[in-house]
Amino acid sequence: MNIIDIHTHVLPPVPGTALVCIGCGPIPQADGHFFSAGLHPWDVTGDDEDKFRILEEAVANPLVLAVGECGFDTLKGPSHELQEQAFVRQVRLSEQYAKPMILHVVRDFDSVIRLRRILKPVQPWLIHGFRGGPEQMNQLYSQGILVSFGLKHNPESLKSVPWDRLFVETDGAGPVEDVISMAASVRNSATQVICNQILRNNNILLER
Ligand SMILES: [Zn+2]
Repeated sequence: MNIIDIHTHVLPPVPGTALVCIGCGPIPQADGHFFSAGLHPWDVTGDDEDKFRILEEAVANPLVLAVGECGFDTLKGPSHELQEQAFVRQVRLSEQYAKPMILHVVRDFDSVIRLRRILKPVQPWLIHGFRGGPEQMNQLYSQGILVSFGLKHNPESLKSVPWDRLFVETDGAGPVEDVISMAASVRNSATQVICNQILRNNNILLER
């Protein structure tokens, strides 16, 4: 496994270098790729039994390394209550199959922190596309919640993130090399150093 891009929606040119989000599934017939599977908050309707059936089948598959993206969005999707029900079900899947979670969170970090405290999951949670400042990032870290950075981010956060918590993503927009060189320039490091550290971090996150 050589995953650099922790969150995308398109198969990477080199198989195995990205964690490809496939929604609830099914898993594409494509050799050498790895996936995450989850019910996005926008897609929650309250009548989701069929989706959860396909999702659990996907999560049980060894090619699926994480649950998500799932989470909370105050700007789009159904009521908070429905989003929370779907999220909690996916936390249970993540714990049952011992796979970490990739989270989509828009303006609702408090719900994520609250549920992490209440549910006390063993698996790590990683909020993708993080654009918050260092203070918010550190508040999340103190609750055991990780974040990943794409092209749109707060450079102060990317600069100050500890090496062993550095994660990057494309979210399906553009080549991962662009994100790597951006991270290298923000952190004043060589791209190879960035890549090696990210490979190490992803291996620890996804192979526990
Ligand atoms: Zn995404």
